[in-house]
Amino acid sequence: MASEILDGRKLSSEIEEEIRLKVEKIKKEGGKTPHLAAILVGTDGPSQTYVENKVKACHRVGFESTLLRFSESISQSRLIKEVTRINEDDDIDGLIVQLPLPDHISEEIATETISPLKDVDGFTNQNYGQIIREHHGLLPATPNGVMEMIKRYGIETKGKHAVIVGHSRLVGAPLGLLLSHEGMATVTQCHEFTEDLAKYTRQADILCVAVGKPGLITGDMVKDGVVVIDIGISRVEDPSKKRGFRLSGDVEFDSVSKKASYITPVPGGVGPMTIASLLMNTLKASKLRNASQ
Ligand code: NAP
Repeated sequence: MASEILDGRKLSSEIEEEIRLKVEKIKKEGGKTPHLAAILVGTDGPSQTYVENKVKACHRVGFESTLLRFSESISQSRLIKEVTRINEDDDIDGLIVQLPLPDHISEEIATETISPLKDVDGFTNQNYGQIIREHHGLLPATPNGVMEMIKRYGIETKGKHAVIVGHSRLVGAPLGLLLSHEGMATVTQCHEFTEDLAKYTRQADILCVAVGKPGLITGDMVKDGVVVIDIGISRVEDPSKKRGFRLSGDVEFDSVSKKASYITPVPGGVGPMTIASLLMNTLKASKLRNASQ
């Protein structure tokens, strides 16, 4: 069976174009331009790339953006002050604090300080709790990007068996909630201590993998016709590449794509959808804040 590629780059470009047109209209009508602020602590290579890509995406759709860089040694209290200052800045609609943070700063305290109204990554407890509400707040960016991809490709979730490998607070767990509540799928959530992982993955109509272990899922672990969403991104050493590494998902693409009906590539699958989702959240946050002012 030849599988169809779930093309996150193409889809995210379409979403960006839709947002760009909406922003153009807001500006023409004299409304406020959505503004995203990002905080980056330290010089971690992947984090810098992620944040820079988010800022570039803001420019493409016509948002304003502010990137605040701090050294690795910034204290927790200073960082919290910055977050609080941005919470109170009326011009800024959305704020992301790029994770991971250095060990001396609590990620939970830092993210919980973000105003839920500006929490466009959807990380705060308040937004998390609203995932299962009908009129939810700002949804976690990566799981929401996955749901958007599933919807736009017309993939049926209702009544299907969705198996999610990984149950992290930021990705696997909220995706399970979304697929169960919004998608009306029957969800099985697997993790590090799941015994006989393949027993579950072979039952999946929709298999989402968010672990960070390249090649974890192989062709013999899936059934024919499965929809595969590979969320994992890891750097794998590769001397043949200029940068010395390549990006790899958790799914062994060659063997799994022979059986899947749909499959995401890595890179070019969920990654661009996460950025599109962040832009959708920023536009939503801006609209909600400006409607209430
Ligand atoms: P994480 O917090 O480290 O969580 C990994 C999850 O995988 C945990 O729930 C863990 O279970 C589970 N796990 C570990 N080993 C396993 C195994 N052998 N079998 C089954 N489950 C196992 O990571 P994360 O933040 O969720 O991210 C997961 C991956 O997605 C990473 O590669 C990350 O870079 C990528 N990611 C991509 C995007 C994107 O935009 N494409 C966005 C976010 C994250 P336990 O909790 O029981 O240990």
